Amino acid sequence: MDKPLTADIGFIGLGANLGSPVTTLTSALSHIAALTDVELIASSSFYDSVPMGPSEQPNYINAICKISTTLDGLSLLKQLQYIEQTHGRIRNGEHWGPRTLDLDLLLLGQQQYHTNELTLPHYGMQGREFVLVPMFELQPDLIMPDNASIAKWVSECDVSQLRRIQMT
Ligand code: AMP
Repeated sequence: MDKPLTADIGFIGLGANLGSPVTTLTSALSHIAALTDVELIASSSFYDSVPMGPSEQPNYINAICKISTTLDGLSLLKQLQYIEQTHGRIRNGEHWGPRTLDLDLLLLGQQQYHTNELTLPHYGMQGREFVLVPMFELQPDLIMPDNASIAKWVSECDVSQLRRIQMT
């Protein structure tokens, strides 16, 4: 008898700073919701954040969504990369350069990857207010990979330049 598939809870980070970021993020969320074997549970508010790295680029709009899926991390990453491409993402190799859409797989249950293609949990959550504040908004009791609370991780961030966007 086949083993029943168990679903994992996951978190995906969305970011954009070229084109029409709010429209792009809204569209990306509906594409994530439409993925086979993925259920979109909730999405955070949108936040305006200053870019990391090169500063001569527009501010980012960031959000987080919470999903449930039976997919493994690598299969989900491929789906997310396809969504990036359909939103005009061009990979030019520039680290932290401007982008029409960036999708990061942050957490997926207890799944761990340490490959060239996928690092999971995502290596870039700690200290990043534009990731942790919307994640806290979605799940304030979340336990992070080092077993600390997300509240502790948020308290270690500089949130002075992060602005929650009021949607009309
Ligand atoms: P970036 O240009 O910063 O979006 O980085 C994209 C690259 O990071 C891709 O080649 C992915 O294969 C790789 N990557 C590794 N781990 C992750 C992850 N958890 N989520 C998204 N991309 C990842």
